[in-house]
Amino acid sequence: AKEQGKSQISRFELTMNDTVQKRVALERDLRHAISYGELEMFYQPQLDLRAGALCGFEALIRWRMADGRIISPLDFIPVAEESGLIRDVDRYVINCVFQQVAAWLAAGYDPGEVAINISTYSLQEHDIVAYISDTLNRHHVPAARIKLEVTEGLLMKNVDTAQRIMNDLKAVGLKWSIDDFGTGYSALSYLRKYPFDQLKIDRSFVEDVHLNLENASVTRAIISMAHSLGIAVIAEGVETAEQLGFLLQAGCSQIQGYYYSPPLPANSCVQLLADDGVL
Ligand code: C2E
Ligand code: CA
Ligand code: CA
Ligand code: CA
Repeated sequence: AKEQGKSQISRFELTMNDTVQKRVALERDLRHAISYGELEMFYQPQLDLRAGALCGFEALIRWRMADGRIISPLDFIPVAEESGLIRDVDRYVINCVFQQVAAWLAAGYDPGEVAINISTYSLQEHDIVAYISDTLNRHHVPAARIKLEVTEGLLMKNVDTAQRIMNDLKAVGLKWSIDDFGTGYSALSYLRKYPFDQLKIDRSFVEDVHLNLENASVTRAIISMAHSLGIAVIAEGVETAEQLGFLLQAGCSQIQGYYYSPPLPANSCVQLLADDGVL
């Protein structure tokens, strides 16, 4: 038994080393990707249900490696967060999206409001405020075009700093959206502590909202609470007409998901923009 225990430990150490090595390699490759422009933004259209038209996009990052493989953000954002590279990733994304929005506006298109995912790590240092306002000015993007999405991740860690950053950027004219709403346990207190303009109902509720009575009531409750607080509501991950039907009836005003459109490369958005978002 002792021998067996020993070999288990070394096998464990082996896998540990393996994981650490993979992470170190990924971190190195990501650093390279940031400098050499291998990170690319896709844009997922958002639909306003009352107007029946496009009302904005969510920018979603993709890593296109030299060999053509595309790596999902789910596989590298956590590594970026743990290594501190997230600071550079977030700034890269901000710059890239502002540049795209400026190009659409200059070409006469109306992209509505464009949402950017910001890691809560970026809400720990106040210099992000200057970075964002300088970048807006540099690209001549009206602040009202930009919405920043955060999950509740680290919002409670450094409340004063996060509040100051959010209020200062709101004063500049940007909007704030709380992502994956309903999944964490302090969601309600966040709505009071931070200046959110929108909440995004998490896909896990939307998934079976038309079948699961509990998720249906939670979704209805979230929507009516948001309305009474004057906060806009968007549902993510809407894939079917049944889900859409439920959300319409529950008074949800915007949706995003494969039902309307998957995330698209920037140049595929132009057709949609030219047609006012009617697919
Ligand atoms: P998220 O912000 O919750 O983004 C929504 C995810 O759901 C996206 O995955 C999107 O492609 C996917 N999705 C959209 N519609 C549907 C649908 O109808 N059904 C299903 N099953 N999925 C749908 P993606 O692009 O892989 O992004 C994963 C996560 O990575 C994002 O979750 C976000 O937390 C993070 N992320 C993505 N882009 C960025 C970025 O630019 N910066 C940062 N910091 N994080 C990002
Ligand atoms: Ca998001
Ligand atoms: Ca989300
Ligand atoms: Ca989600």
